[in-house]
Amino acid sequence: NSTEPTNSDNVIVMGTNAEFEPFEYRDGLDIVGFDVEIAKAVANKLGKELKIEDMAFDSLIMGLNNDKMDFIAAGMTATEERAQQVDFSDSYFKSKQVIIVKADNTAIASADDLVGKSVGVQLGTTGDLFVSGTEGVTVVQVKKGTQAVMDLQNGKVDAVVIDEEPAKKMIAGKTDVKILEVPFIEEEYAIAVKKGNTELLNTINETIEELKANGEYDKIYEQFFGK
Ligand code: GLN
Repeated sequence: NSTEPTNSDNVIVMGTNAEFEPFEYRDGLDIVGFDVEIAKAVANKLGKELKIEDMAFDSLIMGLNNDKMDFIAAGMTATEERAQQVDFSDSYFKSKQVIIVKADNTAIASADDLVGKSVGVQLGTTGDLFVSGTEGVTVVQVKKGTQAVMDLQNGKVDAVVIDEEPAKKMIAGKTDVKILEVPFIEEEYAIAVKKGNTELLNTINETIEELKANGEYDKIYEQFFGK
């Protein structure tokens, strides 16, 4: 059965890119974060041990379809294009893209102002897809969002387009960059399983529903986002 995980029976494997605080990031040797807590709850429900595979964000869907993992939990936006390749769970988080610029930048006040500018993005993300699809923008794709922010600080790019919560973490404590308060693309994060793996998908959806109903979701939220 092609939908069956290739891993040992008592282990379930989450694929992620641990460069996306507070959803998944390294704390010493551990990978921790909001998504990890959701994934642990899924593993608990199945009575399995959670193992995490950390890889480049743009390799995750291929990895899932090559049985390198059972599911992807990576702050991944459920898009129609990706839904051709994977099955998505119910949404577990509402997010949006934001624009980061230098603190003294007055030339960029909205997404329209990105035209004619060079913009840093993380390769293969929805931010990348948006910027790459906007005519007249010079796109600078990097592997890590933190690298894009460094490029902004060093003047290599004029702006960065990235998910809101990680953006807040990436600029925390920095006085030379700011997040623009402009309405931008809204997105929903979901967990991805291999197409046709409805058994695991149902377990994931039940877990999300239970976490929301029993108050655990709010506790995890508070742990990683404050009140
Ligand atoms: N939400 C964005 C996407 O799905 C970014 C995810 C990430 O970088 N981990 O493309």
